[in-house]
Amino acid sequence: MDKIPVAVLAATGAVGQRFVQLLVDHPWFEITTLAASERNVGKKYMDACQWVIPGDPPPSLADMVVSPLETSLPARIVFSALPSSVAREVEPLFAQAGYAVCSNASAFRMAPDVPLLIPELNADHLGLIEKQRAERGWSGLIVTSPNCTTTAAVMPLKPLDEAFGLQNVFVASLQAASGAGYPGVSSLDILDNIIPYIPGEEEKIENETRVLLGHMEEGQRVDADIAITAHANRVPVVDGHTVCLSMGFKAKPTADEAMAVLSGYRGLDPGHGLPSAPEHPILVTTQPDRPQPRRDRDAHGGMVATVGRVRPCQLLDLRLVSTIHNTLRGAASGSILNAELLVAEGYVT
Ligand code: NAP
Repeated sequence: MDKIPVAVLAATGAVGQRFVQLLVDHPWFEITTLAASERNVGKKYMDACQWVIPGDPPPSLADMVVSPLETSLPARIVFSALPSSVAREVEPLFAQAGYAVCSNASAFRMAPDVPLLIPELNADHLGLIEKQRAERGWSGLIVTSPNCTTTAAVMPLKPLDEAFGLQNVFVASLQAASGAGYPGVSSLDILDNIIPYIPGEEEKIENETRVLLGHMEEGQRVDADIAITAHANRVPVVDGHTVCLSMGFKAKPTADEAMAVLSGYRGLDPGHGLPSAPEHPILVTTQPDRPQPRRDRDAHGGMVATVGRVRPCQLLDLRLVSTIHNTLRGAASGSILNAELLVAEGYVT
């Protein structure tokens, strides 16, 4: 098939660079536009961008001239890595102009007519698009990816909830510096240190987890009725968010039963044939000192959650540790998988 033209909004940031790296050889999509803030409009991409991820800017895009955020871009899908305050204003304009917007920003994650999506977990939430289009009167659409730490927590929580009925969760995060973007947290603040406060993060983890574990009923999203409390911490790791979870269930699974459920989880019908979908979204490790961000964040191209230390909990029923790559599965790769699902389901033609 002809490749679908796509644009990256905020292509110069930490997440935008990942989009560029992942999309340059994508089998379905072709970048036609790289957009960023006014200060970079008109510059060559390689001059506009302080490249902060491994490797170099793709040579085929290095000379592309950075565009402004205009809704006349030659694209059908728009990947947005905009700051939330900008996304709130701009993303609806793109949806209004007929584009499919795949957003990483938090601006519309909690909107009741906008899918907050992890394809393997809640593809049925795409049903909200019909309501979104009807109520907002646009022919385009917005789907959102969760906060990167939410993704680390909810990927193991979903299969365990389905199997054993999740009741309550305690989550403590260890979040990488790149989660704050570039330049992000100052080195003098984060090196040799832990910062036990990330504004808005704990609420995002708690609220988004309830949405992602929720279900659809008569075209509406019904959020999961679970008790969840989060502690968010920034740690001196470059990439890779880790969460430590304690979980209570209606059924009382053993650690072995939980591990069997996690390793067997597929989530997405393999018939979809989405190029970025891993065969198993969760990789279970039994090594006593894993997962570790430096060693596990890139597993299966950074598309899986690596889960380990599944064991009994003295307060609730079970505990475990989960690590994901925050700018891949937790941002750009997750968003590209969302776009692939939109194409496979006929929302982008
Ligand atoms: P970042 O490194 O700080 O990059 C910010 C980007 O936004 C830059 O490309 C910047 O362009 C652009 N931008 C800022 N103001 C703009 C404006 N008025 N118009 C157009 N572009 C503008 O941030 P990031 O880490 O990539 O995060 C991007 C988004 O993804 C945020 O909403 C964040 O919450 C979300 N997210 C991040 C992660 C992560 O791990 N970092 C994970 C999940 C979600 P210039 O270079 O031209 O200034």
